Amino acid sequence: MWIPISIDKFLKLHLKKNPNKNEKVLRVRIEAALDDYKNGVKCQCGKDLWIVGSASAPFACFSCITGKEHPLGDYELESALDKRDKYGRRNIEEMDPRKINGMFDDDGYEINPNSIKKPSLCLTCLKNVDPDWEEELLCNLNRNDQANEREFKCYAYEKL
Ligand SMILES: [Zn+2]
Repeated sequence: MWIPISIDKFLKLHLKKNPNKNEKVLRVRIEAALDDYKNGVKCQCGKDLWIVGSASAPFACFSCITGKEHPLGDYELESALDKRDKYGRRNIEEMDPRKINGMFDDDGYEINPNSIKKPSLCLTCLKNVDPDWEEELLCNLNRNDQANEREFKCYAYEKL
């Protein structure tokens, strides 16, 4: 998970730990990395840049700078928390923790509900007629899990 932070706060923290660094240089690098991020410049691996990490490393994504898959309480600028991987997918571990909603697969990747096919079984199900928000979510998760199965099974099915 990211810890959202502003440029000013990050610089303060970073300079406390690294007092020999130059604040002006760091700020210029962060602003340049943020510009790149907003202009769609990616890490060489295809993922979005890690802005505060790029202040003291060549511009790159979190994984390429740290060697870790996902952040674990690492800082990132509030304005750069809409990170996507090289396939354009968002992962729950790399979203703004205050803005997480929707559906995610077992690996944490966001699922677009519009991309899920509705099996024919659902068309004769009571739950499909007037689902509430929570039911719709569970139905979609179940559909997504079985997206590649030949036969769709559902234990919540209620015949119309
Ligand atoms: Zn990378």
